[in-house]
Amino acid sequence: MDLSRFPRRRYTPHATPLEFLPRFSEALGGPRVWIKRDDMLGLTPGGNKTRKLEFLVGDALAVGADTLITCGAPQSNHCRITLAAAVKEGLRCHFVIEERIPGSYRASAGGNNFLFRLLGVDSISVVPAGTNMAEAMQAVAARVRAEEGRPYIIPGGGSNAIGGLGYVACAQELQQQFFEQGIRFGHVVVGSGSSGTHGGLLAGFLGNHIDIPIVGIGVSRDPAEQDPLVHQEAQAVADLLGLGIGIPRSAVLSFGNWWRPKYSLPNAAMVEAVQLLARTEAILLDPVYTGKVMAGLIGLAREGYFRRDEDILFVHTGGAPALHVYESEILDETRGPSL
Ligand SMILES: *Cc1c(COP(=O)(O)O)cnc(C)c1O
Repeated sequence: MDLSRFPRRRYTPHATPLEFLPRFSEALGGPRVWIKRDDMLGLTPGGNKTRKLEFLVGDALAVGADTLITCGAPQSNHCRITLAAAVKEGLRCHFVIEERIPGSYRASAGGNNFLFRLLGVDSISVVPAGTNMAEAMQAVAARVRAEEGRPYIIPGGGSNAIGGLGYVACAQELQQQFFEQGIRFGHVVVGSGSSGTHGGLLAGFLGNHIDIPIVGIGVSRDPAEQDPLVHQEAQAVADLLGLGIGIPRSAVLSFGNWWRPKYSLPNAAMVEAVQLLARTEAILLDPVYTGKVMAGLIGLAREGYFRRDEDILFVHTGGAPALHVYESEILDETRGPSL
């Protein structure tokens, strides 16, 4: 598939590593777990949004925009990475932050909130949970236009057809790495939120005839709600690419057992996953996304969902800054007799 016909900016000058996790796999008792280090993508620190923004910012520049507008939760990695891209490109940047948990946005908070200020965001509008985010961003765009600016709106998580191309590019990068490293994977496990990552990867796998099932782990929704979103995203990406295929419903698979009590709130399985990967491989996961996704991988492995001798791939999607906002939750749990 030829992605070179789409405008793209390059924020990572190399492929991210594909690594085996020997000590983690042993601690788990199988399967053999590998990791795609998309936490090592570019943009202060990078994550899955970096790949989407390569195409989204490429498009923004192609249409002559000078201002990016996007939205997210108070500790949004997507907002941070969008701002980092804006800084590098010399664009202005505005956020609409949805307080999904009332009172949770504090301008002085650490982690991503600190980085919003350090990288110099132009404005942050905080709105209550349930606000129509598209309308709220349109209102900011009207303000920008009134001041002679040229706004470009990026949806939450960068998850539209253009953003999804970033994970088609990732699928192609993986295909090359599978071939070079000579590994035949049984499953790929990936976080499923605004669905650009899961949906883009699925469109990329189908379009490149990579016949490996993708297992999504929901970070905010159960499959009944999540799967249609992923299907819609994968189809939009396939249509933009002109693949001429209908994404089969059966290719969309997610599990919803690990995100509760609520998006972004800790649970014990997440804490175990964050600790286990830190203490077996010195790799940091985050509490909101990758910790819960890895909890899902661990849970499925214990249920016997994977064959014990199979190679599976965990896609690390980044998120490290949020870890420091949850330090007490992550370490309080360690005051048990076993540690
Ligand atoms: C946004 C995000 C996800 C979820 O990806 P989507 O494309 O929104 O489904 C997973 N992990 C991290 C660290 C993220 O910031």
